[in-house]
Amino acid sequence: MELIVLQDARRFATGIDQAPCDGCDACGARCTAGVPMLRPEFEAIQAYLAGPEGAEGRRVEQEDKQAPYPGTDDVFYTACRFRDIERGRCSIYPVRPLVCRLFGHVEWLPCPIEKVPAVPGALEMMRRYGEAPQKTYEEWLADQPAA
Ligand code: SF4
Repeated sequence: MELIVLQDARRFATGIDQAPCDGCDACGARCTAGVPMLRPEFEAIQAYLAGPEGAEGRRVEQEDKQAPYPGTDDVFYTACRFRDIERGRCSIYPVRPLVCRLFGHVEWLPCPIEKVPAVPGALEMMRRYGEAPQKTYEEWLADQPAA
């Protein structure tokens, strides 16, 4: 069931015009710790990190994740472990979870600078996706048997 939901969700997200987001990082501060994801998404990230293309992600995981909110220097938040604080981008972009792909395109996660409109059907897709079991990356990691 999870895989079907994920396939549908990825197909939906792939059909969204991401052109307005190209080069924009206005929603970067929303990349906070605790992003929920399905197990297959967690496994895809792990596989990505294990390969040569995951070198940047492995480096970024070691960064200090306390970052100031844009426009402040004394209000801090904890960024997602894959958020590249120094370069202002996602270090696992090709395998980022669905919630990241839909950010800015659905009413629940609106574009902070109102640059992109909500996509018809995104809310329904989000609801279906939300019914499948989800945990944070750290929680899925903790569930794994010790090596
Ligand atoms: S996985 Fe990438 S896009 Fe998603 S919250 Fe983390 S840094 Fe942001």
